[in-house]
Amino acid sequence: MRSWKRSGVVAPTLADTGAGGKKRKAHVEKFDDDQSIPKSFPGHWTEPDVRGILYAMQGRVCAYCGADISEAGIDVEHFRPKGNVVEDPGHGGYWWLAYELSNYMLSCTICNQRLKKDRFPLLDAAQRVRYPQRHLLAAEPKVLLDPAEEDVESMLALDPAAILNGRIVPNPALAEPAAGRVRQTLDFFRVNRKAPQVRKRRELIKEVQKAVDEGDLQKAKEYAIRYRQHSLVARLTLGEKAPGALPTPAEELHWLIGELASELLQKIEDVESGGGELDEREAKELAWALAAIWKAPPSGTSADVEQFLVERGLAEFVKDYLQKLT
Ligand SMILES: [Zn+2]
Repeated sequence: MRSWKRSGVVAPTLADTGAGGKKRKAHVEKFDDDQSIPKSFPGHWTEPDVRGILYAMQGRVCAYCGADISEAGIDVEHFRPKGNVVEDPGHGGYWWLAYELSNYMLSCTICNQRLKKDRFPLLDAAQRVRYPQRHLLAAEPKVLLDPAEEDVESMLALDPAAILNGRIVPNPALAEPAAGRVRQTLDFFRVNRKAPQVRKRRELIKEVQKAVDEGDLQKAKEYAIRYRQHSLVARLTLGEKAPGALPTPAEELHWLIGELASELLQKIEDVESGGGELDEREAKELAWALAAIWKAPPSGTSADVEQFLVERGLAEFVKDYLQKLT
């Protein structure tokens, strides 16, 4: 799990004039009219602009388990479930957040469809927020860590034997109830019990140690970039062995833009050589991602991003998307 910084840009689909924004408005009007809780939620969150803006935040990393979602399957996940809450069947779900970007996270299909589903546990069930108390949402005593709101990286640590067991644990300096929330979140998403991922983390720790021992700090640094799979363990390992080599936010962003740009160039080529709908869709997602970073870079300036895109010959292509962002 890494910490993410939400982009301030608005996905056109979710703006008041977009399909998602209109649906949100209709739901609220209906509730105000007769207190009815919506039951139907067209999946506007799968639109390329929404997914692209989430790529700009997270790259291709599952928000919960750190897996590479281009391998593990990509879902746009509602942090607070929209239509139902397993722990409170009478609640009806956080329906008013169904079309809010601030409630979306990219996750792997296992974390979303098999583990999280409509679950959203609280430390105190009596304080679950419903629409009329929506202004109290920030104070709702949630169990699960929110990587886009909380400094989750400071709450996590490596097990002392992580090189053997690949385990992530609560930071020993953390007090209750935060430590309990970390334990429950790790357990909820089976972070230490998905064997292939545990193996990847173990191997990654070894790779980072080897790179540091061989004096290849650049290689060690790249493993720790937040937009790469399981990079928390690389960051924690590098932080112990050579903290001066940790990547800066600017270096991390540069890496992400480079990856997105290379993928987009490839996709444009695929589309031009007769690729199908899927290639076109992926090209759009990548263009939206780059446009979102250009519009509101999490570090550095828009001018730097533009310069990079000009060098790659992508500025004109991405500009069409940039102009649609507010
Ligand atoms: Zn996952």
